[in-house]
Amino acid sequence: MATRPKTNSATASIPVPMLDVNRQNSPLRAEVDAAIAEVCESGAFVYGPACRELERALAEYCGAKYAIGCASGSDALLLALMALDVGPGDEVVLPSFTFFATAGAVARLGAKPVFADILPDTFNVDPEDVARKITSSTKAIMPVHLFGQCVDMESLSAIAEEAGGIPIIEDAAQAIGAEYQGRRAGFLGKFGCFSFYPTKNLGGFGDGGMITTDDESAAEQLRVLRDHGQHPRYHHSMVGVNSRLDTIQAAVLNVKLPQLDGWAAGRNSNAERYEKAFSKPRFEGGLQVPTVAEGCLSVWNQYTVRVAEGRRDELQEYLASQKVGSAVYYPIPLHRQECFAELGYQEGSLPVTEQAAREVLSLPIFAELEAEELDQVIETVGKFFAETNAKGSCHRAA
Ligand SMILES: *Cc1c(COP(=O)(O)O)cnc(C)c1O
Repeated sequence: MATRPKTNSATASIPVPMLDVNRQNSPLRAEVDAAIAEVCESGAFVYGPACRELERALAEYCGAKYAIGCASGSDALLLALMALDVGPGDEVVLPSFTFFATAGAVARLGAKPVFADILPDTFNVDPEDVARKITSSTKAIMPVHLFGQCVDMESLSAIAEEAGGIPIIEDAAQAIGAEYQGRRAGFLGKFGCFSFYPTKNLGGFGDGGMITTDDESAAEQLRVLRDHGQHPRYHHSMVGVNSRLDTIQAAVLNVKLPQLDGWAAGRNSNAERYEKAFSKPRFEGGLQVPTVAEGCLSVWNQYTVRVAEGRRDELQEYLASQKVGSAVYYPIPLHRQECFAELGYQEGSLPVTEQAAREVLSLPIFAELEAEELDQVIETVGKFFAETNAKGSCHRAA
């Protein structure tokens, strides 16, 4: 069996992937294969017993009373909005600096996404800007626990309360297991929405999603909504969607869930290693490490640094040339997307978001990264700044 070559910064470099889901899944394959085989033999492919088991386990994990499985994280958001009867004429306040699904769910129901700016240090929505964007038409607030860190829920809840008790839907797609003041994401608002897309911290072998809530009647409504609104069978008191969880996905996730905290710990120790390395003077002025807010435990779905204006794309190209993976989440904020042009947001309307979109770069953080791979990322970033800083000092001397 071939072993990975040892790192030697003076000679050849080892390629570092942005993410390699196989490294996480391979050690569990025997157990996963057995669980999938069991589903195949049962023939209960949609919402079988493994789905109910996952719902129970996930509710307990998040500290919520109920969990309702569905087909994807995007559908979890859509169903939560449907349970609040969001539709034409309604507004939903949400960040613009997020994955498209957050706003897509609102728009698909004919409601209006109202974009709020973010805080520069955490990339999460700014509660004060949310407060400014609330109107008499605001039907819900959808904070996103971006990159694995919870939003300032205390401030946001106070604002929602003050505005007459506007319900909060947490987009926790990137934040399963993240803690805020000792409580886990998915238990902080009225609804918590999760994704099991393969690249999320708890990833299936395909699409899947989950909604958590403490509200018994809302939980019942969600179960009906995800199954065409029928209850009992062939009786439709409301129009729902087909968004049930596949049993094979639930079976895979039941095998993976017990490992989740261990993986989060691995991501955390990788983040610590980056933090320590990038705090050294040779990175100063070039790169800003992410901040974890007081009372928060991040699960690091992404490790996202800021690169001083103008050099982000250059750094990303350099990393690619050295075979080090990286990604830009997100290059175009949602308020500047073509499909939302009619909402009328101009360049400069959400300045903190727009600056983040120009400066962010996410580096490999997955738990199975090897120490020499982390070193490789750090060395390669260091070399980039050493070279460009040297050029910079020539200019200054001239
Ligand atoms: C991944 C993601 C979603 C959508 O989840 P899917 O399961 O891919 O539909 C929604 N919101 C955020 C913030 C995400 O990262």
